[in-house]
Amino acid sequence: MDAMLSLSHVSFSYHTLGGETLALRDISFSVGFGEFAAIVGPSGCGKSTLLSLICGLIQPESGAITMAGKPTAAGSPGIGYMLQRDHLFEWRTVYDNVLLGLEIQKKLTAENRRRVEQMLETYGLSAFAGMKPSALSGGMKQRAALIRTLALDPELLLLDEPFSALDYQTRLEVADDIGMIIRREGKTAILVTHDLSEAISMADRVIVLSKRPGQVKSIIPVSFPDEYDTPLKKRNAEQFSHYFNLIWKELKQYG
Ligand code: ADP
Ligand code: MG
Repeated sequence: MDAMLSLSHVSFSYHTLGGETLALRDISFSVGFGEFAAIVGPSGCGKSTLLSLICGLIQPESGAITMAGKPTAAGSPGIGYMLQRDHLFEWRTVYDNVLLGLEIQKKLTAENRRRVEQMLETYGLSAFAGMKPSALSGGMKQRAALIRTLALDPELLLLDEPFSALDYQTRLEVADDIGMIIRREGKTAILVTHDLSEAISMADRVIVLSKRPGQVKSIIPVSFPDEYDTPLKKRNAEQFSHYFNLIWKELKQYG
């Protein structure tokens, strides 16, 4: 069976007046259906560039990217993107914010509305639906932003350092929340982070990139016994420090 997403020998350079910057070199990996992959690497190594390539905002210089065996097209509706900032609009209620994507794509059907209302209910935001985003905690805002992304029923979710604007405590809680929602909705996801612990506690596989130009240094499958079924619990598992040390060494070795 084809992988959900497959990158084969992908390279990319930025061209500016100052010259050419090779951001990514010869990147190959694939992500299976329903898999949660994390990409870690030092700041500036090309992680955000990699997500832009995957969602078709920019085209690889060489190599190929396919989804379910087909080349990825620009703005493919099958891909949802979640960023560091929640980007909720203060002049809209939480409810109108989570419907925004559907509105833009002219998919505001009764059925889609019901699905979004169900998610607000399931994930504890129903009581806040009529309020403005400023009434929500940082964690609730990220949950609302995720529901807005999920409203479009994307096949693949891209998360670019989605928790880095939050304080540490909130960050742990939100990672737990978001991880649970993504697994429950059965989505394939790619999380980009420079936080090793976050990657290990959330992902099925961690892809380690070198410093720029980003290259795949190693791909490490992560698994915990069944009872460690949330990111927070995994952080307390015996295996956690093993993975941490392993990936830490990989990162350090290549700066
Ligand atoms: P990361 O997300 O891992 O921090 P980025 O993908 O944002 O890294 O950037 C990778 C490299 O490409 C960096 O060295 C950055 O300076 C450069 N870069 C990013 N965006 C642009 C751009 N629009 N024009 C020129 N260079 C860029
Ligand atoms: Mg980035």
